Formats: sequence, structure tokens, C-alpha cells
Amino acid sequence: MSWYYSENNERRGPLEDADFQGLVSAGTIRPDTLVWREGMAEWTAYASVFPGGVAPVAAAAPAVRPAVSVAGAGTKACSQCGRFFPADEMISYEGSSICAECKPLFFQKVKEGAAVVGAREYAGFWIRFCAKVVDAIILNIFQRILIMITGVQQQTPREIWAVAGVGLIINAAYVIYFTGKSGATPGKMACKIQVICADGSPMTYGRATGRFFAEWLSALTLLIGYIMAGFDEEKRALHDRICDTRVVRKR
Ligand SMILES: [Zn+2]
Repeated sequence: MSWYYSENNERRGPLEDADFQGLVSAGTIRPDTLVWREGMAEWTAYASVFPGGVAPVAAAAPAVRPAVSVAGAGTKACSQCGRFFPADEMISYEGSSICAECKPLFFQKVKEGAAVVGAREYAGFWIRFCAKVVDAIILNIFQRILIMITGVQQQTPREIWAVAGVGLIINAAYVIYFTGKSGATPGKMACKIQVICADGSPMTYGRATGRFFAEWLSALTLLIGYIMAGFDEEKRALHDRICDTRVVRKR
């Protein structure tokens, strides 16, 4: 039985009983933390669900309908968790589809008037392209300044390779640092878009590193990997598919 809990107005989970209990022991889930699982009418403070702080028991709850993991005929992506479900099992809210599991927290947030209603708006090819252009300009200026300061001449092949190599390292550090830290390079920040994990959780430095290298595949496929974003329901580029990430507009 999968558990969910709310942290900073974000839905976390699903968690198995053991993992859930682990978070309770660790203090991540506190008595006042809102928790929910299939079968519960609404999000409830942990203390009210388990007055004695008892371990959750997997019982008497209706079976969860497993998500269809891939897009298919009649399926839609949930705007909250990104998983696919049969369209007729989802509800629509202001143009976004929301699955049964995400519904309670979603409407809880709506009710509370949380600024982030949560409906995801995926960022398409052109806005992402604009972000890349901004990043390229920033990196180019930075590289020019560096060349000026170091006074390196780009005349021998060795110097040209050195400049290119250092440029590549700076590029990697720039992308991985900013994407890992906040999901957005300065270019993406300027375009108000952000990389997140498919389940809505924030990026980590590890995933940002993987995504940086996966992006090379998008480049090496004659940019087809990038263009894929323009034709995908969730606007995933090849590297988003590989790393299970999404690029969304910030709200
Ligand atoms: Zn969902």
C-alpha cells in the first residue's frame, strides 16, 4: 500500500509501509504532517491517522490501480505526477489532467489557495531554445573575459585545444551546478523555466550530471534528441526521457 505525505506543499511518495515508517522514525513525518493513501477520504495529519504512533498496517484498503507507465491510446499524463492513466479515470481542472492519486492533495492545495496550484505546464522547444541562447551568450562572455585575463593566444593548435577544453569544463560546471542547485541555469531562469524530476521532486546534482551527459546524445543525434521535445505530449527531449526529467514553466 503506497503512502504519500506533504512537505512544503509538495506531494511526496509513493512510499511502501517500511519506508513510510522509516520517515516517521527519522522525524521527517511529524504528528502534524499531512499523509494520505488510497482509500482515505482526504489528507489527514499523521497523528490523527495513527493516534498512538502505530506503524501503518496494510489492510482493508482498496487496491490501487497501477499507473500505465507509457503513453498509449486513451491515456493521458497526470499534470501532477507525470504518470499515464486512462483518460476516463482522470479529472480535468483548468485544462490539466489529474490522476486519482494526486486528486486529494491537488484540491487541498486549491482549497488552501496555495500559490502553486501545481498544474504542470511543460516548456516546449522554442522557449528552451531561447534559454540555451541566453546561456550560450553568458558562457561566451565569460570565456572571452577569461581569455583576456589569462592573455592566452589562440594561435597554435595546442592553445586552441586548451581553450576549447577549458570552455567545455566551464560549460559542464555551469550547467551541472545551476541545474543541480535549482533546476535552472541562468538562461532557464531568464525564460522562467525549470528542470524537475518526473515525480515533481527537485533536481539533484547527481541527476543534473547524468542529464548533462545524456544531453550529448541529443546533440549527437543531429539535434533530433532536442527536436523530440516539440513532438512529445510532455515536451520531453531525448535527455529528459533518459533521465526521467521534465522541463516546466515556473509559476
Ligand atoms: Zn498523478
